[in-house]
Amino acid sequence: MSRVIPRFDTLAAAKFDSSPSSEKRHRTNLEEVFGENVFGLHEMKSRLPSAQYEALLSTIQNRTELDGSVADAVASAMKEWALEKGATHYTHWFQPLTGSTAEKHDSFLKPTGDGRAITEFRGKELVQGEPDASSFPSGGLRATFEARGYTAWDPTSPAFIMEGPGGAYLCIPTAFASWAGDALDKKTPLLRSMDAIDVQARRALKLFGSPPKPVTPTCGAEQEFFLVDEEFYYRRPDLQTAGRTLFGTKPPKGQELDDHYFGSIPDRILECMNEVEVDLYRLGVPITTRHNEVAPGQYEMAPIYEDANQAADHQQLVMSTLRRVARKYGLVCLMHEKPFQGVNGSGKHLNWSMGTEDQNLLEPGDTPHDNMQFLFFCSATLKAVAAHQDLLRAAVAHAGNDHRLGANEAPPAIISAFCGDQLQDVFEQIEKAGEATSSKPSGLLGLGVKVLPNLPKHAGDRNRTSPFAFTGNKWEFRALGSSQSVSFPAMVLNTIVAEAIDDLCTKLEAELEKGTSFDDALRGLLASEIHEFKHVIFNGDNYSDEWVTEAEGRGLLNLRSTMDALPKIVDEKNLELFEKYGVLSHRELESRYEIFVEQYFIAINIEGETAQYMAETMFMPASVRYLSDLLTAAERADDLGMKADGVMATAKRVNDLIDQLNEKVGILAEQNQELGGDDVVSKAEHMRTNIIPAMNEVRDVVDRLERVVPDDLWPVPAYRDMLFVK
Ligand code: ADP
Ligand code: MG
Repeated sequence: MSRVIPRFDTLAAAKFDSSPSSEKRHRTNLEEVFGENVFGLHEMKSRLPSAQYEALLSTIQNRTELDGSVADAVASAMKEWALEKGATHYTHWFQPLTGSTAEKHDSFLKPTGDGRAITEFRGKELVQGEPDASSFPSGGLRATFEARGYTAWDPTSPAFIMEGPGGAYLCIPTAFASWAGDALDKKTPLLRSMDAIDVQARRALKLFGSPPKPVTPTCGAEQEFFLVDEEFYYRRPDLQTAGRTLFGTKPPKGQELDDHYFGSIPDRILECMNEVEVDLYRLGVPITTRHNEVAPGQYEMAPIYEDANQAADHQQLVMSTLRRVARKYGLVCLMHEKPFQGVNGSGKHLNWSMGTEDQNLLEPGDTPHDNMQFLFFCSATLKAVAAHQDLLRAAVAHAGNDHRLGANEAPPAIISAFCGDQLQDVFEQIEKAGEATSSKPSGLLGLGVKVLPNLPKHAGDRNRTSPFAFTGNKWEFRALGSSQSVSFPAMVLNTIVAEAIDDLCTKLEAELEKGTSFDDALRGLLASEIHEFKHVIFNGDNYSDEWVTEAEGRGLLNLRSTMDALPKIVDEKNLELFEKYGVLSHRELESRYEIFVEQYFIAINIEGETAQYMAETMFMPASVRYLSDLLTAAERADDLGMKADGVMATAKRVNDLIDQLNEKVGILAEQNQELGGDDVVSKAEHMRTNIIPAMNEVRDVVDRLERVVPDDLWPVPAYRDMLFVK
């Protein structure tokens, strides 16, 4: 009988040396390559009549409606460009609530009836599409019989060309809505939230006497991921179906030595990343940094920030490009939050700020005026975080992230904000100045604050444990999972900050109305607002047990798991919030809640069934084979009159583990059979309370078996191979 010996995979994997892109790599001219597959402003300007270009530009910059007549001109220019690039098809590229992207290709070809054909692309095809939408999740927003969904062109995110082995096609970023006009995607609410923050921030700028220019939230997302050899990947049903290993013992060498972090990147990986980057440059995605991460086999990539909408689109391209290019190098890119137990998982840091075309509103400035403004917007963010910890937590809640949050490697499930000692000190001084009502304002700020030159322009201190940290001129929301779309969390941030700015402006305006001077009104406001958010500031170690206790004392939420966090989405206050700012209607928000719960259910359900399948068809048989070998040896020994104590002791141990495995798999199988109720919430609860613990118990026995069953009998590659062969 022939056996598959996983060690052979290791040899095959280690030998990988083809380099598909070495030619291309030497020819990369960054300036030429960047954006060459993007139909951006530069391209539009050179191809459109100037009046139409100006109309389009105004739509993009002021986020106003597009003049219908312009669409035809844009479509025709876009088609010409796409054909020159070798495209044969176009697609409306959208982001359904699955969290990834969707596309349906249409050819540019139009038969002329005489056996020939021309290419055609009209304004109405650019502006609106109608994909059959019945299989995308809608959370009850659309019955299957009314499957119609519409895609609508988003002119603020440029179209681009995707190149595949079989040809190229034009992708047009679009929003996706139901026949009744409900948003069925992640882009629409994000765009609406950008409008909300724009309106409120402009109002604030006006009060400050600053030019009320359009304000855009900006995002830069750092992406962590693992690369493993595909020889291993395809031998692991768990990696294939669940994206993470459901079994596996920690290797003798883990990440303890920290020799991987920021170490030099291995050749094959570097070559792969290079190709990923060049592909992304061509798509206009401004990737700038790459390095090894903490765990062996783990890496990170980050772009230069962009407006939230483009950043979200580009983040999707980063993920899909990584996945696609990795395969060319015999690698598989794992985006799951916790592919390997016992080594660090992967997150995504969402760097977030807001600004006009020439000013980052979260950048401490050089003048007192700028700094008052900075403190205003900074306070607004903190106020928003304090008021909506629940939403921020829920925005990062999903099955994969439950392995990270609160697991001493990632931020805890408690949402707090780190602002560094200097900024904290400024806030404390403002608070004191506000309390001493008769005291004369002094110092540069007119706020009783003397520390102006020390405002944390380049915060020296870092706190890697905080879920939400001020890092000099932006906030870094660190609790996102690596696999997740940034759209929903960014949308939440935009909306809650819009609300906080709204509230601050209203109070400020009321004071001014009474005849209070602007400086006095602002000073009073900032001093009193501190009480709204003081409790959410925490600069200490977020991993410590003391923090959990202290946070509880401060009244902060500690929503440990996905199913604790998700229901908060539809709390009354949140329904009202999103409705008030026109970001999500009640129906739209409720549908998202339902879809998130369903996704949790589906993810764990797949894991539960995969775990059962692997235990029954792989680990149990492997263990029984070993037991059989041992018993055969013992029998022969007996025939020869030899005492085989060691063999018998091992056989007993293995037999005992097999019994335990049998019992635990039986329990898991029984739980897998259970449907857990009719509605998705009770199904999801069944996953949380019954399936996960049953799976963990099976894993525990299997991992113990892995340590006794011979290497050549073990049916899947081990952690030590997957993590260290590069
Ligand atoms: P660090 O994590 O060490 O602060 P960087 O300063 O390079 O590293 O920033 C990390 C990410 O934050 C990058 O993607 C960067 O583009 C992004 N970033 C920088 N400034 C802003 C900003 N104003 N708004 C949003 N993201 C920003
Ligand atoms: Mg960072």
